[in-house]
Amino acid sequence: MDLPEQGIDRDEVMQELEELRRDDVPWLEGKAFTNLFIVDRDGKRLVEDAFRSYLWENALDPTQFPSLLRLETDILAMAAAHLGGDESITGSFTSGGTESVMLAVKSARDLALATRPELARLGKPEIVLPVTAHPCFQKAAHYLGLDATQVPVDPETLRADPAAMAAAITDRTILLVGSAPSYAHGVVDPIPELGALAEETGIPLHVDGCIGGWLLPFFRELGAPVPAFGFEVPGVGSISMDLHKYAFAAKGASVVLYRDPARHRHQVFTWSSWPGYSLVNPVIQSSRSGGPLAAAWAILKHYGHDGYLEVVRNLKASTDQIVETVNASSHLRVLSRPEMCLVAIASTTDDLCIFDLADALRAKGWVAYPQFRMGEGMPPSLHLTILPKNLPHVDRWLADLEECVAELLASPPERSPGLAAMAASVDLSACSDVELQGLLAQVLGDGGPSAPSPDVNRLLDALPTAIRDRVLGAAWQHIIASAGRPIAAVS
Ligand SMILES: *Cc1c(COP(=O)(O)O)cnc(C)c1O
Repeated sequence: MDLPEQGIDRDEVMQELEELRRDDVPWLEGKAFTNLFIVDRDGKRLVEDAFRSYLWENALDPTQFPSLLRLETDILAMAAAHLGGDESITGSFTSGGTESVMLAVKSARDLALATRPELARLGKPEIVLPVTAHPCFQKAAHYLGLDATQVPVDPETLRADPAAMAAAITDRTILLVGSAPSYAHGVVDPIPELGALAEETGIPLHVDGCIGGWLLPFFRELGAPVPAFGFEVPGVGSISMDLHKYAFAAKGASVVLYRDPARHRHQVFTWSSWPGYSLVNPVIQSSRSGGPLAAAWAILKHYGHDGYLEVVRNLKASTDQIVETVNASSHLRVLSRPEMCLVAIASTTDDLCIFDLADALRAKGWVAYPQFRMGEGMPPSLHLTILPKNLPHVDRWLADLEECVAELLASPPERSPGLAAMAASVDLSACSDVELQGLLAQVLGDGGPSAPSPDVNRLLDALPTAIRDRVLGAAWQHIIASAGRPIAAVS
């Protein structure tokens, strides 16, 4: 597409924007169990209004906008108190979980380098994390020049194993990680035990509460067996918590909190050795909209404790219903026992492939992400992020689930021999990126982005992860390269 020579009328521009949505997942209908977090119509409207009212303000320079500084300190204080902290807890508002985690890792690295001079001659500093931790820790390690050691979890509970974590610590370790809860299975790691390990070794523990940190205390209040995971636990040095997930704020909203202000100080980057303004950046973004701050502040204040508790009452009832129904079925089971509304469903029989099930549900309009196998206790599974907008549809989803399972068992879908044969005939690890893209173009065609077929998922599931990551990178390039055409056709 070229820049129009003469500008287009605003109504026409807005209409084109609407038309572009026609192939998107119809997520507002409530049939997608994926990462789109809206609490209800009232909350949606409030977030939009608050966001728009601060859209243009720039949080780059809080001395120009005391309002934004105030919004940030209010949000941080509400978050710290919610997580068992007092006024001594410091932190920053960030654009999302990845930025919060990136900063927690950076501050741990820089504090360690400043206080442990021996690290300089030991090679790359390293973080130690359960294999269930979110990949943003791997991304942080990759960006920040660190090693990241994945530790197996308990194969039954899928929770971090403190003894295995302890055994993985070396003299290069600068940070330990636990999740509250993990994304893939919705279970909370044993944070008190990991905190004790942190105290014993002097290595700080980061608790990743990105997805569920905000709602977990409400689940506990309603009787879920949620262990302690906040600043009330000795040894917890920092916590990340997204507000744009289960606090139902607009995207671009997360916090990273610290017990030790000296570590928070290591987050900040300053630079005045240039002819422009003095740069003081506590976070990765520099220019940043006030919109996410205002929207997050507004939804926390508007819902308050009682508002969130009511939302969680409904989420919990539906999650319990799903877990019990699935576990009572003879061909499916829920992995471990989630403490909140994140559920991973696996097949218990070779006759039923979870990727076929995801596809059959998709044909009925239901969207959920398949997850690949990941060692002992973690077969391929179907992940549900259960959201308020899903709740009116849960009965119908369960009925469709049962129907899909029965149909797949009665008439097993055909598998494409071509794809498996091709994969067997090519040494993917020896392919260049360009060759991988050529293969993918054959497999995926030029139809624009779409969910992978069950055959493609089975193939990916069976690949060694290092090769799979390269294939996924090539697939991304293929999708970007073929996306230009359908978009140009709209205009
Ligand atoms: C979503 C998530 C993250 C990353 O957050 P983004 O906002 O997507 O950058 C980190 N940890 C967990 C457990 C998550 O679920």
